[in-house]
Amino acid sequence: MKQDNCIFCKIISGEIPAHTIYEDEQFKVILDVAPATKGHALIIPKNHYANMYELPEDTAVEAIKLAKKMMQVMTDKLHCDGFNIIQNNGEIAGQTVFHFHMHLIPRYKDDSEILKYVSLHPSQEEMEETRKTITE
Ligand code: AMP
Ligand code: ZN
Repeated sequence: MKQDNCIFCKIISGEIPAHTIYEDEQFKVILDVAPATKGHALIIPKNHYANMYELPEDTAVEAIKLAKKMMQVMTDKLHCDGFNIIQNNGEIAGQTVFHFHMHLIPRYKDDSEILKYVSLHPSQEEMEETRKTITE
């Protein structure tokens, strides 16, 4: 269940310190060491799964339930104005730590546009082609 050389496994076991804001049998929630905004936190399952593909369904359900709970508590305490929940899978998607985690990012009216991406402009035909690829 624990993987050598995994920084989050080491945080779970206490080998590496972290600022823990919530803990239960299945999860630890810690403050991100390089926060995008004040309160940026990470939900980390105690068992090692590399990403969402590997995550068991029941753990995924519990993780999203915890995200909802944390979002509520953090919004009340931090008085943020909005909230992003982000989860990266694979290097190309921006994943840098290969132990599943969800980012909880409180957003404030005066914070910068930290999560903008450049939109594609697909034609209707391309949209339909993509729809078919996914659904057929
Ligand atoms: P991701 O890019 O989705 O894999 O996110 C990994 C996150 O883990 C980044 O936001 C890092 O700042 C954060 N991180 C890396 N090492 C630590 C650590 N020791 N304690 C807390 N957060 C960390
Ligand atoms: Zn791990």
